[in-house]
Amino acid sequence: MALLALPDHDLARRDVAAWLAGAPVRGADNRPVPVAAWERAARGAGVVAGLDQWRSRLARRAEDLEADAELHDRDDENGWRAERLRREATHARDLAGFVARLAVDLRPGSRGDSWRGLATWCRGLVRAYLGGEGLRDRWPDDERAAAQRIDAAIERLGDLDAVDPNPSPAAFRRALELQLADDLGRHGSFGHGVLVGSVRLAVGLELDRVVVVGLAEGSFPARRRDDPLLPDRVRAVAGPDLPTRAELVHDEHRALLAVLAASTHTTFTFPRGDLRRRAERAPSRWLLDTCEAADGTRPSAEDLDRETGDWLREVPSFVAGLRASSFPAHAQEYDVRALLDRAEAGQAITGSSILAERPALARAVALLEGRLSDRFTRFDGNLATDGDLRGAVIPSPADPQEVTSATRLETWAGCPHAYFVRHVLRVDPVEDPEEQYRLSALTRGSMIHAVLDRWLGAILEADAVPAPGVDWSEDDRIRLLDLAEAEADRLQARGLVGRSVYWHRDRQVVLHDLMQFSVFDRDQRAAHGTAPVATELSFGMPDDPVPPVTITLPGGRDIRLRGAIDRVDRAHGGSLLVIDYKTGRSDAFAKLSADDPVPGGTHLQLVLYALAARRVLDRPDAPAEGAYWFVTDRGGFTPAGYPVTPEVEQMALTVVERIVDGIGTGVFPLHPARPGWRLFPDCLYCEPDGLGLAHQYADWERHRADPAVAPYLDVCGDDDD
Ligand code: SF4
Repeated sequence: MALLALPDHDLARRDVAAWLAGAPVRGADNRPVPVAAWERAARGAGVVAGLDQWRSRLARRAEDLEADAELHDRDDENGWRAERLRREATHARDLAGFVARLAVDLRPGSRGDSWRGLATWCRGLVRAYLGGEGLRDRWPDDERAAAQRIDAAIERLGDLDAVDPNPSPAAFRRALELQLADDLGRHGSFGHGVLVGSVRLAVGLELDRVVVVGLAEGSFPARRRDDPLLPDRVRAVAGPDLPTRAELVHDEHRALLAVLAASTHTTFTFPRGDLRRRAERAPSRWLLDTCEAADGTRPSAEDLDRETGDWLREVPSFVAGLRASSFPAHAQEYDVRALLDRAEAGQAITGSSILAERPALARAVALLEGRLSDRFTRFDGNLATDGDLRGAVIPSPADPQEVTSATRLETWAGCPHAYFVRHVLRVDPVEDPEEQYRLSALTRGSMIHAVLDRWLGAILEADAVPAPGVDWSEDDRIRLLDLAEAEADRLQARGLVGRSVYWHRDRQVVLHDLMQFSVFDRDQRAAHGTAPVATELSFGMPDDPVPPVTITLPGGRDIRLRGAIDRVDRAHGGSLLVIDYKTGRSDAFAKLSADDPVPGGTHLQLVLYALAARRVLDRPDAPAEGAYWFVTDRGGFTPAGYPVTPEVEQMALTVVERIVDGIGTGVFPLHPARPGWRLFPDCLYCEPDGLGLAHQYADWERHRADPAVAPYLDVCGDDDD
């Protein structure tokens, strides 16, 4: 049914992804499709819905990936990236072809004239995307039986031409849905056993025992949302054939009452809270009705347990429920109960014979024990003293074949676990295009950097840089605006700017920031007496003629550094001003000073880039100053920095050395931000659902006292604020 429903939302990416993940779908080559890789390709391309987006955005994504792959071809250390990027480009192209074929196949065409024609079309779809009879031999029994039921239901619909010679595809789909809903499949003889389904399904049946689960407001009855296409006020005009949403709720209530009246024993369950959202739930009004009918008084939601009779049983927790049940429902419950018995008898659960028999359970117990303890264990990122790397080696930035960067090292200082996931396990987060309502901070930053680089690059090439303090010409400003407009159009065409309703304003804001930049820049050049000499000064990058810059740490080891310095200016006397553009707020840089040049191991760029700029520009003895320039209204158009003196250099490199040691020895604790209100999570590795990291923060609070975390605390400090 999910396949037939794909055109409903114009081939929405979420629908296509859910269908691919929920069925053994095959491609044109009759092989299973790579579901996860295709999901990543569609998200990376920014596809939301519509065949046009699938075609154009995936094609552009493939082009971009191949262009990136060419850059990485020349990178000996990261050659694997080129290969991976090419594979991703192939996936993007394959997916575009698959969806184009799907869009054609989902149109019944001339076959839509009759039930027989639609049945033939539908059978063809099943065969094309799920495989024919021959393939089903390898399926599990229940899936094979389900496929046979689908075939039979389609076949039956093919015989309906005598009833209605001109069915619509929608009518065919509804009929098929009904056929499949009625045919749940069963084991054993009719009239015995357990029937699972909605309460409507049980109307008219005689049942020995009914268990209705989830009687909470919002679940049963479900939250009533008006249909945006057919709101209740429109349905009301259409008369009784089109029930309103409100009437559907009454139907559900009547079905519940009918089922209760027909059963001998009834059990209701009500979840008091939503553990994931840490919120309480209100009991369903229908549950309170039943309480009132039984006891004569209607309890309030809070007093449900106090004011009702002894027919109400409270289950305080999962464990309490497990302890109270007379017989475990399955092997897992049995195992957990056995472990609970040991714990309650004061015995260590690690001595249980069950753990020896069930290695998976033993590993789960070890993990939970580790995480709940005060120790910093391998389950919390301690690969230094508690790890079992089974021969694997964590690459150290000081290894001669490694090339690192300032931002990588800063990542470890911010959260070592994020470094581990991203740079050791190489997990790249993928944005969800549907959730991107606004221009993301990342895209905004890239756009501003790209425009400023192109603009300044052209001026440097034309040798038309104004003297310190001299304003930019009108032509320069017009050129800056043109470049900004062109980049905005390019991002829009690639679907990277969020919803159009917000993009209109976001675009104006970014263009305004870029125009303001020329004024800020003039003032800064006047204040420092400098003029730009380089933009995007890169070293050690994949396509770079300039090799990585070697930096010697205080202990004598070398690290090789790559990077791209946003801009370097030079003063009359020859001193260098190394500039890093920032497009966010400046609050986090408030503590930055020559006395504390890399607070908490972050903001390493100024010192490392100053050292690199001297080397790349062949001015080893030039005095250098580093500055972050906050180049947006929200950043306040302000600079923050300091002169990079030998003392500053020594302080910063000492911290870099500690970071290098922490990575090389395998210290990767999770260091989540203190829980508090945030619009969006900054990092999704531990909270892909964005519901918060309170648990992880509590773990961090316990683990930080372990001496094995000390190498990290030496870098980040002891203060989480
Ligand atoms: S979600 Fe937080 S704790 Fe987890 S890796 Fe990212 S920054 Fe670290």
